[in-house]
Amino acid sequence: MSGNIPFTMEDVIRNSYEVIIGLEVHVQLNTQSKIFCADPVAFGKEPNTLVGIVSLGLPGTLPRLNREVVSKGLQMALACHCDISRTQHFDRKNYFYPDLPKGYQLTQDRSPLARGGYLAVPVRESILRIPLQKIHLEEDAGKSMHDGDEKHSRVDFNRAGIPLLEIVTKPSINTPADAAAAVSEIRRLVRFLGVSDGNMEQGSLRCDANVSIRSKGSSVLGRKVEIKNLNSTRNLTHALDYDIERQIGLAEAGLPVTSETRGFDAVDGKTFPQRVKEALNDYRYFPDPDLPQLEVSDAWLEEIRATLPVLPEEWFNRMIDRYQLSPYDALVVSETLQEAEYFESLCALGVRPKAAANWMMGPLKSLLNDRGWEMSAFPVAPGTFASAIGLVESNQVSFSAVAQKLLPVLLSSPGREPVEVARELGLILEEDDAALDKVISGVLREFPLKVEAYREGKKGIVAMFMGEVMKRTAGKANPRKANELLTKKLSE
Ligand code: MN
Repeated sequence: MSGNIPFTMEDVIRNSYEVIIGLEVHVQLNTQSKIFCADPVAFGKEPNTLVGIVSLGLPGTLPRLNREVVSKGLQMALACHCDISRTQHFDRKNYFYPDLPKGYQLTQDRSPLARGGYLAVPVRESILRIPLQKIHLEEDAGKSMHDGDEKHSRVDFNRAGIPLLEIVTKPSINTPADAAAAVSEIRRLVRFLGVSDGNMEQGSLRCDANVSIRSKGSSVLGRKVEIKNLNSTRNLTHALDYDIERQIGLAEAGLPVTSETRGFDAVDGKTFPQRVKEALNDYRYFPDPDLPQLEVSDAWLEEIRATLPVLPEEWFNRMIDRYQLSPYDALVVSETLQEAEYFESLCALGVRPKAAANWMMGPLKSLLNDRGWEMSAFPVAPGTFASAIGLVESNQVSFSAVAQKLLPVLLSSPGREPVEVARELGLILEEDDAALDKVISGVLREFPLKVEAYREGKKGIVAMFMGEVMKRTAGKANPRKANELLTKKLSE
């Protein structure tokens, strides 16, 4: 038999091309009010109930920039190590669409909030730095709804004027998996910073991807296809996979790739053409005369820098260097800021880092998952949780008793002392060696044939003896001690 054939023909073809992906991600910032007026930012409200005269773009109204929007944008830009533009303005991007009542969108075309910088993306158990082109601020448009009525489309302006942060990567990502990881990292980062809920399903985080291919070694970029409105990392991956295959198919057939905008149908997993980009759209950008120039002072920047939390990349390195976790554990434990801080508190209370990580990734995660809770909703203080872990580490209570019986009680009464709960539930393991000795001797007397079998080499039988001992002590025998004592007596 020969070994596996390492490559299929498809692999060979695929490997002779290089894929280049760039991302444009829009994040809705979670400020209390909109970017240019005091209308509230909220989701799931009755259509057109969060709209004042500015959101509706009525003639004669004037925009006023919300300082908090810039502040949150700057947090993200600093977290991505960008160069901050110290003088900024907003441009009018002119186009007609029913959900855009002013006839233009206010956006930062010529002076983006920040340029350069990078995203630190965990892939293949290390950190990949994906360079950014720019980050800019703009306003969201209203929402057109084309379903529900055959003859009419309807518009909800609640979304009009919600602040958006647009993050544009350089076209430097080489696989759909890395692109998905980059989007996940943006979501993680905005949650770490608390500037957005990053919820893709509800549209607080929306993603467009452009993708082109070229022959390996070529320095000329292929024609770019832009895939719009990918509302999950799964759809992003599938859309890119599909379109890369499609573009390679065209290239192999000697046909050109059309530079166009495509949509993605999640049901059949295919991208489809929406409009051809024959020329660059002419949006007639010009600086909005109603808004003054925005100056970012040193003091403001320093104030923001001082409030930044420890960022995911730093946590990842700290988990590995200071706590000796594996890269995988390091990532899971620092998934959210709340988890990372909780982990660190446990360690500060003397819990072994590896044990702390295991408890957080195992019992704690499943308790949260069962209840659909985020870590921030976990009511048990690190000190209490550390005491519960201590009961297991000191062999007073078994792991499964703490995980399955004690922790659920602490969830509903987080102020209680774990050792007391354990006592009340009868979870404390027997410390009475003499009693345990008696039980074990009894068991061995009762099964002389099995004892003989053990002594003749059937060592597996010890499990059956353990079962008997645990049954007779109602599960309260310390398993490690029982096992030791059993093995000792059996070899006498
Ligand atoms: Mn945009």
